Amino acid sequence: MIMKALEVNGRTYQWMKEPLVVVCVDGCEYDYLTEVVKTGKTPFLEKILKDGNAYKGDCVVPSFTNPNNLSIVTGRPPSVHGICGNFFFDPDLKEEVMMNEVKYLRAETVLAKFSHEGAKVAVITAKDKLRKLLGHQIVGGICFSSEKADQCTVDENGITGVLEMIGMPLPSVYSADLSEFVFAAGVKIMESVRPDLMYLSTTDYIQHKYAPGTDGANDFYIMMDSYLSKLDKLGVTIAITADHGMNAKTNSEGKPNVIYLQDLADQVVGKDNARVILPITDPYVVHHGALGSYATIYISNDLKNELVEKLKATPGISKVLNNSEACSLFELPNDRVGDLVIVSDKSVVLGTSESRHDLSGLDAPLRSHGGISEQTVPLLFNRRLIQKPNSHLRNFDILDISLNSLEPRA
Ligand code: ZN
Ligand code: ZN
Repeated sequence: MIMKALEVNGRTYQWMKEPLVVVCVDGCEYDYLTEVVKTGKTPFLEKILKDGNAYKGDCVVPSFTNPNNLSIVTGRPPSVHGICGNFFFDPDLKEEVMMNEVKYLRAETVLAKFSHEGAKVAVITAKDKLRKLLGHQIVGGICFSSEKADQCTVDENGITGVLEMIGMPLPSVYSADLSEFVFAAGVKIMESVRPDLMYLSTTDYIQHKYAPGTDGANDFYIMMDSYLSKLDKLGVTIAITADHGMNAKTNSEGKPNVIYLQDLADQVVGKDNARVILPITDPYVVHHGALGSYATIYISNDLKNELVEKLKATPGISKVLNNSEACSLFELPNDRVGDLVIVSDKSVVLGTSESRHDLSGLDAPLRSHGGISEQTVPLLFNRRLIQKPNSHLRNFDILDISLNSLEPRA
């Protein structure tokens, strides 16, 4: 085994001294952890919080899943890796395209780099939309999603017979089981293959539905704790963070608090003169109705000021930025962001036109993310840091800290 430090995207990572498992818990607002620990049923999390190995940091804005997962595995913001949402408007094609193809990825991942140097790497995601991006250029490793665990082949995923190995049926995309499957598979693979570097990424189905401290949320974290305890006993370093937080997006009557930006723009600058893109949109929108707290708008220069004035005067909108302001503030790729970026207040979400959002699938008061209000995320380690971090942490520092700054197992 090569035991050298590797440089990836301008950051240096020491070779792991024991297996490292990095977990991205989708939508893990910090309060979920402090609340579940009160139940006394999460010994692993409780120890981390009590020992002071729990920190807070910022995720990338837009606080969505793909930009943040890619930041975590590349160690850099979207201005470097290029993935700034699920969707963007391709100016050449003149249409909205999904950004989950590897051709849109502009940076190498730390996972791929370590695999090139001989590390055994395993990546398990809940939803398949992330699998290709996270697994890009990993050689000789394992990479699959719970969603399509029944279709794994050695050629494509580096593993087959996953359902039999785990002993769980294929989970529904809209279930807590989809995430449990990730943890169960992670434990099985650590017990058998013992990879050097493992990345586990869950889905936020539960977090969209249940607030911190509720039974539905606590059950999820108690389940997670049981698997992490098993991993911990296998003698591995465990680092936990989140892609973003999660907040209630409802008014006093419990109804979704929505500003429909396309309707608003059509009124101000004329129908279809502005194009509103919601980068949260993906094929699975039942649990949030494609409503988040971040939007980008394409609009011609001559109409821009009029719309900006109106947006700034609209209650519930916290930021109206032009392309260059937004890209420098949030470290985003200029060519994949519209002419304007809109961020809404903590309890407000942004839509396109009222007629285009189907909210009939919402069986719980709306909770969502995307804005600055969901930027705070946990960074947890089952080891002590050599010294307290002196700079403001980001979720994409997690690999750096895990490989460079943790004390060895006591
Ligand atoms: Zn997410
Ligand atoms: Zn979500």
